[in-house]
Amino acid sequence: MGIVLKEELHVNILSTDICSIEKEIQVSLRKLGKRLLGQVLSVLEEKEIKKNIRCTCGKNKWRNRGRVARSLRSVIGAVKYKRIRLKCKFCGKEKYPLDEKLELSSYSNMTLGLIEQSLYLATDTAYDKASDNLEKIAGIKISGRQIQNIAKEEGKRILSQVEEERKDIFEKTVVPDSQESRERVFVQVDGTFVKNRDKKKTRSMECKVGIIYSKIEQVSKNRKKILDKRTYATTHGSQRFREEFIAECNRWGVWDAKEILFLGDGASWIKRICSEDFPDAVYLLDFWHLAERIKRSLGEDHKRASENWIEDIRNNYDVKLLLSRINALYTRIRDPDIQEKLRDLYGYVKSNEEGITNWGKVNILGASGAIEKTVDVAVARRFKRRGMSWLNKGLASLLALRVLKLNGEWDNYWRLRGVPV
Ligand SMILES: [Zn+2]
Repeated sequence: MGIVLKEELHVNILSTDICSIEKEIQVSLRKLGKRLLGQVLSVLEEKEIKKNIRCTCGKNKWRNRGRVARSLRSVIGAVKYKRIRLKCKFCGKEKYPLDEKLELSSYSNMTLGLIEQSLYLATDTAYDKASDNLEKIAGIKISGRQIQNIAKEEGKRILSQVEEERKDIFEKTVVPDSQESRERVFVQVDGTFVKNRDKKKTRSMECKVGIIYSKIEQVSKNRKKILDKRTYATTHGSQRFREEFIAECNRWGVWDAKEILFLGDGASWIKRICSEDFPDAVYLLDFWHLAERIKRSLGEDHKRASENWIEDIRNNYDVKLLLSRINALYTRIRDPDIQEKLRDLYGYVKSNEEGITNWGKVNILGASGAIEKTVDVAVARRFKRRGMSWLNKGLASLLALRVLKLNGEWDNYWRLRGVPV
């Protein structure tokens, strides 16, 4: 069964200006689309009423209580319509058959298709910007606040799925099918802080990020590209992060690899994950972090020295040499600020000795900086812009949506939700 809407569209072609013509066509098509959708709604309502669905009280006697206006916001635009209100003669319950049919969520009158489009924009740009973009490109008005609300709801949904999977693994110990095994897998974990808007709580919240990958391609002399990266990011504490990240690793088949290389920045919570959850992995200190640390400690005044130190440690993994250099500089220098920094650097290198010397065992050139890039893309670019602060729930939800997109699972997720993307 279909609905036919016959309409003649007139386009003024007295002017041959293609811009005006395309605009005219666009406007006409939108108007037509809305009219068609309006007709579809009334047919759907009729069909729904004919179904004669019983009230929850068990009786089936409804009184017509007139029509109530509502607007449905769809990818075609907002369509105003009047839907019928029914009241049960026995228990007094009211219902709107069309609303039930459309399965509109309680928090918005938007179709899922429009929700998907709005969130697609909002995962990359501020809510108000996403709202502007949607209006400019699609001619649909939805406020930034409304997009924020649907992000929260949709994120909650994704997060509860993660929770289900976590339960599967930790409470039922069901290990999901893993993909083809790989020779060597890189696992990398890091954290970054996002400003907390909740003044009653801490000033910032940590987002923890984990990545898994195995295929690195040399794109040019100085550039490498990771081909199969999987990202996981969350605002949860380290225990929850561990459980969820391990679930990701399971799904990815990390433990089937012949060799697991675990990269960290030297933070103790990350080292603990490595030693407890990845006991067979080779722990490596991410050189990007070591290099940054050296640069920061030596400052601009000793730039040449820091460049040399970084170059040498990258090539020889000679921790003893690096420690003696830090010592030598420390005794030569008078500035107490730099002295303190050098003391910290010494402690950092000392406590990460194994993570540095292990590079000599694995015989690969460092796939360094990958986690830093991921943290930047997954978190900083959307959540750490100037003036931005977040409440935990909003952050967690949008982060879940953003990770979905970064992992290339966006379309799949929405298809499963029933949106033909
Ligand atoms: Zn009833």
